[in-house]
Amino acid sequence: MLHLEEIRQCLAQSGMLWRENENMAAHTTFRIGGPAALFVEVSSAQELSELMAKLHSLSVKPVIIGRGSNLLVSDKGIDAPVICVGEHFSQVSLSSAPERVEADGRTFVYAQSGASLTKLCRFCLEQGLSGLEFAYGIPGTVGGAIAMNAGAYGGEMKDVVVGAHHLTMDGTEKHLWNQELDFGYRHSFYTDHSACILGGWFALKPGSRDEIKALMDENLNKRQTKQPLEYPSAGSTFKRPVGNYASALIDQCGLKGRSVGGAQVSEKHAGFVINTGGATAQDVLDLVAVIQKVVKDQTGYDLECEIKLL
Ligand SMILES: Cc1cc2nc3c(=O)[nH]c(=O)nc-3n(C[C@H](O)[C@H](O)[C@H](O)COP(=O)(O)OP(=O)(O)OC[C@H]3O[C@@H](n4cnc5c(N)ncnc54)[C@H](O)[C@@H]3O)c2cc1C
Repeated sequence: MLHLEEIRQCLAQSGMLWRENENMAAHTTFRIGGPAALFVEVSSAQELSELMAKLHSLSVKPVIIGRGSNLLVSDKGIDAPVICVGEHFSQVSLSSAPERVEADGRTFVYAQSGASLTKLCRFCLEQGLSGLEFAYGIPGTVGGAIAMNAGAYGGEMKDVVVGAHHLTMDGTEKHLWNQELDFGYRHSFYTDHSACILGGWFALKPGSRDEIKALMDENLNKRQTKQPLEYPSAGSTFKRPVGNYASALIDQCGLKGRSVGGAQVSEKHAGFVINTGGATAQDVLDLVAVIQKVVKDQTGYDLECEIKLL
């Protein structure tokens, strides 16, 4: 049960922005998804903690999202409060070495979880700090990137994140350092534990601004050349199977351009399912099922979705 009236009262006393029946297509890069019963935008950790404690007391489990760049939201929508951690919770600043972390010649940056990776990377460039160039152009937030251990061009969040803090579902704040974050391929502690990440500490090395900028530009250019950025999508649809690449297998099976309704395997990059206009979540799911079956039948590989289904 959603206990809407009690949650409304709690929200009315907080300073957070919230709306009912919010169209989730507007909050995902796929531009797909039905309405969320309740959509809350985080602006303060204290208010969020109170809200999460209230939801916990009502046995209501919220859904936490960032930029929605790795999500496929059901056409029926989400019958739970959606907590969106975005631009209203996005400060980035230099930090001292976090507790339990050796400075080791490194400089530390703290970012609230709603900061976009673009904002974080540009901040590091301004400060002449190297280490996050790989992340420039990944269209997510710091929270989403830590949760997913986002990576590209040989770098991953695990290489630079030395700590994170979060609210547990009952609103209690916890810190995690180094190994506790349990990073793996598109996996972190947060893959297996529900929590709302508040922010993370990044360890970076001093570098030449010109070299940092050149690498950021090169990475962005590769994305613009190779990825179908002109269409809505959620990035790579599938995880990389051991010993191969999802896009290569899909291409090899002749699936480029295959479509179901408005969902299509991109002609430009077979690893992306794109929304060519008016795609439903069901179109995407049906196309994903076709791809998985054809790839399994023709190559023996099982493709696992990287995109999170809500
Ligand atoms: C064009 C395109 C290119 C992409 N390229 C890459 C790439 O190169 N590498 C890569 O790794 N990914 C890539 N992605 C996928 C996506 O951008 C990343 O996974 C990103 O890190 C997701 O961040 P987000 O804020 O959008 O998270 P969301 O999509 O909103 O959420 C993703 C997951 O993170 C969780 N989450 C989000 N915020 C929080 C929080 N504050 N606390 C707890 N959990 C949270 C959600 O519950 C969900 O499980 C791409 C996507 C697109 C559309």
